[in-house]
Amino acid sequence: MQENILKIQNLTKIYHDKSSETLAISNLNIDVRDKEILAIVGPSGCGKSTLLGILTGIIPKSSGKIIFNGRKKIGYMLQTDCLMPWRTILENALIGLEINKKKTKENIKKVNDLLDKYGLHDFKNKYPNSLSGGMRQRVALIRTLATNPDILLLDEPYSALDYQTRLALSDDLYKIIKDEGKTAIMITHDIAEAVSMASRVIVLTKRPCQIKNVYEIKFENSALPTENRKAKEFNHYYDMIWRDLDVHL
Ligand code: ADP
Ligand code: MG
Repeated sequence: MQENILKIQNLTKIYHDKSSETLAISNLNIDVRDKEILAIVGPSGCGKSTLLGILTGIIPKSSGKIIFNGRKKIGYMLQTDCLMPWRTILENALIGLEINKKKTKENIKKVNDLLDKYGLHDFKNKYPNSLSGGMRQRVALIRTLATNPDILLLDEPYSALDYQTRLALSDDLYKIIKDEGKTAIMITHDIAEAVSMASRVIVLTKRPCQIKNVYEIKFENSALPTENRKAKEFNHYYDMIWRDLDVHL
């Protein structure tokens, strides 16, 4: 049995406005396994970003428990890369360390090594506007990894990118997450992305989100996401999840 790194128990979130209440999440239970890539798919507005916001502590929960198994350092990567145009790639990648006052010689070296390892060596002293969308997202991931998080939260990390870039980036992200031994929770509305990258896919219902189905994704010859898309098992998972989501259209 794989160890759980995080347990979400009976999580409920109600947003209170002046005149109304919105039940965004109702009694949600999820166990996140150590070093897995867990994809979460669900209809727009069902509460996915709210869930990640609660895990980071940015959004307060209404009730329920979030139990970390010791390691609770979280790295949060957003839909847009949020690189600062006036800082070089290296300076952008170092910003998390700067904010956390952890810009030590050793950590700077680690960030340099990550940039070298993942194809950004020649761009370290360039500015974000000279990079492609996929490269920018890789910088954003390295910036997130720089502070050495235990769990990565990825909120639709590809949605601002074109199709070809998304495909290439899914392989890159997969490699980086696996090489660095991280646990990742990835939100996506793209079923193919979820099935090709994740070891498990959780399908949520429409708001208030609850679990509709959980799929263990197994490929006989598990490979990089772009290869998994061609595997014979791929369509089977894709169709089942598509049907789950279709009910809510
Ligand atoms: P998703 O990421 O799945 O698209 P969200 O988590 O962003 O969904 O939102 C879930 C629901 O909660 C939506 O109906 C949204 O309108 C509502 N919501 C999100 N943020 C707030 C807020 N700050 N105040 C009130 N309602 C909110
Ligand atoms: Mg969202």
